Amino acid sequence: NQFGQFNLKKEIVAAIDGISFIKPTKVQQRLIPSILAGRDVVGQSQTGSGKTHAFLLPIFNALDPALDEVQAVITSPSRELAEQLYEAFRAFQKALAKLDPRFDALRIVDYVGGSDRVKQTHQLEKKQPQVVIGTPGRLKDFLSQNLLLVNHNRFFVVDEADMALDMGFLGDVNTIASAMPADLQMLVFSATIPDKLTPFLRKYMKEPIIEEI
Ligand code: AMP
Repeated sequence: NQFGQFNLKKEIVAAIDGISFIKPTKVQQRLIPSILAGRDVVGQSQTGSGKTHAFLLPIFNALDPALDEVQAVITSPSRELAEQLYEAFRAFQKALAKLDPRFDALRIVDYVGGSDRVKQTHQLEKKQPQVVIGTPGRLKDFLSQNLLLVNHNRFFVVDEADMALDMGFLGDVNTIASAMPADLQMLVFSATIPDKLTPFLRKYMKEPIIEEI
């Protein structure tokens, strides 16, 4: 497959065969090298462009399955979109685990509003997940209760940032971002960049690359 052109680990490239992708989309072509280089990125692109895998692949490339701490947090304002993200992460985990069984035990969780909080609380009390996908309200709750520990987190993805703003969730996203290390890599996706989003981007992002695709 044509993902071999990127500086991805060879097992990541091989696992891409397992999800039947042959060549990168335009968004993936533009964003994967910048994300692999450690840059903060603002991606202005629509659902359907392949943006999920533009961040999913570099995140998997950096994950350490032996490290029992939160390494990536992805937030989306809608439950449905968060669930789609979760399914994409699980599908890639499955493909990768066939090549590297250490990924079998990788803990990817889906914490959205309306889901079983009691069960999730018990889960968090036992062991931290390594990849967290969720809606801003639920994530903020778990952080404020010190159930979810993000002080060593490495990637924070804010998907559909303009929708988060419209739905009144930007305050929660702000609270989540402020609990994370200053040197983490932040990736923001938004169909548009309204003026009201700019202060948030300025506060948390370091010389972001802005890609309009
Ligand atoms: P997204 O915009 O991330 O929601 O992706 C839209 C759809 O395109 C999803 O079903 C992905 O699985 C699929 N997709 C993403 N990238 C590729 C690719 N490089 N080759 C084939 N399908 C892809």
